[in-house]
Amino acid sequence: MIHPILPGAAIGVLGSGQLGRMFAIAARRMGYRVHTFSPESDTPTGQVADLEITSPYLDLDRVRDFARGVSVVTFEFENVPAATARAAAEIVPVRPAGEVLHITQNRLREKLFLSQHGLPVTRFSRITCWDDLEKGMKELSFPSVLKTAGYGYDGKGQVKLYDFEQAKQVYASLAPQELVLEEFVDFQKEVSVVGGRSLDRKFAHWGVIENTHAHHILDVSIAPAIVSPKVTHQAIEITRTIMEELDVVGLLCVEFFLTQGEKLLVNEVAPRPHNSGHLTFDACVTSQFEQQLRAVCGIPLGSTELLRPAAMANILGDLWGNGEPDWVAACSFPEVKLHLYGKLTPKKGRKMGHLTALAESPQQAEQIVRRARSALTAKAVW
Ligand code: AMP
Repeated sequence: MIHPILPGAAIGVLGSGQLGRMFAIAARRMGYRVHTFSPESDTPTGQVADLEITSPYLDLDRVRDFARGVSVVTFEFENVPAATARAAAEIVPVRPAGEVLHITQNRLREKLFLSQHGLPVTRFSRITCWDDLEKGMKELSFPSVLKTAGYGYDGKGQVKLYDFEQAKQVYASLAPQELVLEEFVDFQKEVSVVGGRSLDRKFAHWGVIENTHAHHILDVSIAPAIVSPKVTHQAIEITRTIMEELDVVGLLCVEFFLTQGEKLLVNEVAPRPHNSGHLTFDACVTSQFEQQLRAVCGIPLGSTELLRPAAMANILGDLWGNGEPDWVAACSFPEVKLHLYGKLTPKKGRKMGHLTALAESPQQAEQIVRRARSALTAKAVW
């Protein structure tokens, strides 16, 4: 029997970035309280939470204290140490479970898990020494991509390899940590599916979202993706299977490469809301953040219906190159919504906020959101 966690209860969030901030906004709107735990202070999540605990993740006594103050613990950041999730789970339910984090926070464990369950992944090989790499490069040929097995995101810890000479230098800079070598996929596009799974194991998804990256960081997402019904069906079914096999309660995003031959390959899995799902905040009946809340609290999932085609463009710290972006210019597009994460220091590649546009078609929404983002730095005279 499910005992739902009701409005008024406090929800614990491990991590304190923008995903936690948007989760906290959704949770507070529904009358929940939010406590966040991370090593930083004055964080995007902390600024809108009821309580911000600043502590190293491995201060397990503080983790237990934090857990005592909440009804359930969830994540907004999957690289939280496994010991932290275990300490919290001694006190309250942790959703998704620590085991899901353990698998998905390491590329190698994740790829082995996926391939063992018959799911399509990019060809890869495990690298623990130079001989492994030499053998792997011969098998996968050039170009290939060398990635750190742990703590990689937004292209961090990955390098494209072109020949043996360059590979030697790259290897020297990354070794001795565990690495994964992947074949380079000449994809036609990248797509993702965000799924939600409830405590009574019901599955919901927002369809397929199409993503464009710049310098390995997500740049623009559009929904619905412009892909065939067959690809849509397959991407959703793969996501459903992964959530079932991992027994996720909460959210999970699967990022795919769609090959020139219309084959889907799973690139990455994240057991939390995802940047490509930010557009659900403005464009759907239930956002990914509200769905995470519903799932971890054991209340029924909400409708994922897309109210209008939408596009999202990230705002990176790079846009501060010539001073503060022109927020008024972006807001002069009436169909555009501005989200800023409250980060104090803009840095190159740092996600500071995003824009969402709603329109008649995903292509039109993309055009509008790109124009609105360009307006941020166009130095308009008002
Ligand atoms: P990741 O950190 O693995 O999500 O990679 C970030 C981005 O780098 C992906 O979204 C792709 O645009 C690109 N990328 C990563 N791995 C590969 C690969 N094996 N082949 C082609 N592009 C890749």
